[in-house]
Amino acid sequence: MDEADYVIVGGGTAGCVVATRLSEDSGTQVALLEAGGSDLSIWIQLPIGYGRTFFDKRINWMFDTEASDGLNGRASYWPRGKVLGGSGSINAMVHVRGFPHDFEDWKAMGNPGWGWDDVLPFFMGSEDHDLGPSSVHGKGGPQHVTDISGGVHPLCRRFLETGNELGFPVTHDFNGANGEGFGIYSINTRGGWRASTANAYLWPVRKRPNLSILTKSQAVRVLIEDGRAVGVVYRQGTVEKTIRARREVILCAGAIGSPHILQHSGIGNGAVLREHGIPVVLDAPAVGRNLQDHLAVSYFYKTRVPTLNNVLFPLIGKVRAALRYAFDRTGPLSMSVNQAGGFVRGGPDATRPNLQLYFSPVSYTKTPLAARKLLNPDPFAAFLLSFNSCRPTSRGHLQIASSDPFAPPAIFPNYLDTDHDVAEAREGVRLLRSIARTNPLAEIITEELIPGPGLESEDALLEDFRARADTVYHPTSTCMMGPDPATSVVDSQLRVHGVAGLRVIDASVFPTVTSGNANAPTVMVAEKGAAMVRAGA
Ligand SMILES: Cc1cc2nc3c(=O)[nH]c(=O)nc-3n(C[C@H](O)[C@H](O)[C@H](O)COP(=O)(O)OP(=O)(O)OC[C@H]3O[C@@H](n4cnc5c(N)ncnc54)[C@H](O)[C@@H]3O)c2cc1C
Repeated sequence: MDEADYVIVGGGTAGCVVATRLSEDSGTQVALLEAGGSDLSIWIQLPIGYGRTFFDKRINWMFDTEASDGLNGRASYWPRGKVLGGSGSINAMVHVRGFPHDFEDWKAMGNPGWGWDDVLPFFMGSEDHDLGPSSVHGKGGPQHVTDISGGVHPLCRRFLETGNELGFPVTHDFNGANGEGFGIYSINTRGGWRASTANAYLWPVRKRPNLSILTKSQAVRVLIEDGRAVGVVYRQGTVEKTIRARREVILCAGAIGSPHILQHSGIGNGAVLREHGIPVVLDAPAVGRNLQDHLAVSYFYKTRVPTLNNVLFPLIGKVRAALRYAFDRTGPLSMSVNQAGGFVRGGPDATRPNLQLYFSPVSYTKTPLAARKLLNPDPFAAFLLSFNSCRPTSRGHLQIASSDPFAPPAIFPNYLDTDHDVAEAREGVRLLRSIARTNPLAEIITEELIPGPGLESEDALLEDFRARADTVYHPTSTCMMGPDPATSVVDSQLRVHGVAGLRVIDASVFPTVTSGNANAPTVMVAEKGAAMVRAGA
């Protein structure tokens, strides 16, 4: 294939949605280029399999970041999906939209059409929600959202009651009208299998005659002629090919891939491009800037009552869990380990929920990180509690590190760079400790394994945070949406400032990271972006 109306680069969470929506018009030819291969793998489709895909270089870009001063000079490991479905094929499936005020913030940053009332229809249209249809939830949309509250581990109830004891409300739906408080996460599965956008959107329509899905096809650069994007140069195997775009090139390569491709196409900070011998097509200083991410730490507790460790560690438990899954697709193998959590205010001054919590009735203190296997938890009963700031204000950046388009970019997360983020880290560690010291959770805890009782002062706990906190895998904003080309990359129609026929539609356009997990808002951005393209905006 050497020509299409729309050439979409990246078949991840957003790309699968955009390709599906644009090819609904049978008169439009759509080509989807994906660097990775098919997602037909048991470890991708089995919800708990994401522990296996975490370090699998066949389907994972496996980026390493540069060091962050705020983490005492530590670097981070950033998995990203390199497969149909993208990071949505290797993620933990937690379905959180973010709060209405997140999108009001987007609008207030100069992006008309992105306030809550504008984006809600696109969230709803994407959903086939167990709690829908309702005024906030859709039914019959492509992506299933499962309410797992009936099947979570019994310890989750204790966690909710403990929150209540501390004065936090219990919410029955983080995405409902009252999403604040402690609650059970909904997840993207259908019938016990992962419901990535590859499964939910792309697979059902893959045979459309006007849709070409080119896997193992890595974009090298966007072709730009007279200020207009006219195609994409890509490598399939060892062969370099070109595909022309009659109408538009749409980058959906994610928060790392999209700015990386733009820079290799000559669109980026002129000085950086020249340093690597890339001819400057457009000096666009914001490409790769404004990077945001959620940063979390986990506390581990040994318990006197059984946890999921008691189910998943012994061989007999694994067999039982597998049989249960084989029988009716239920049980722990059908879920994420992040079963419960919360969105809460960490202090009296917080005007909105500013901390996200995770409660996982399972622990991995003994398994080395690089061998992280969700089916190999600790051999004793334990659970873990984690938190991250909802809306960190630190911003990092990424940039090409070489003239070779196949070399990874240099990623500078710049975690914990602002006083705001340090203050919220202090609030968060205080909160984790008070949760663990409050009944009915406290009465079943026999020992805090990590960080351990030796650390008591808030300064010591902050040091521990700097020493152990890590990514929650939500990088965003590297092709930020905004009105000013000096500080943003795309306008509110997701068109790249200064280049005709070129859009970015993925998590890289978020003006700010949303308060919760990034996948559901990426699906919303993709639905809304595809509608803009179809409307000719
Ligand atoms: C381990 C992990 C756990 C997570 N857990 C959750 C969770 O529980 N809940 C949640 O909401 N979010 C979670 N996330 C985040 C969420 O999955 C992402 O925010 C979301 O998938 C981003 O979508 P995207 O379309 O922007 O990028 P991606 O889904 O990453 O898609 C980008 C696609 O572009 C392709 N690509 C990149 N470069 C090129 C190129 N040059 N040529 C061709 N193709 C290219 C990639 O291979 C990939 O398929 C998690 C992420 C990870 C990695």
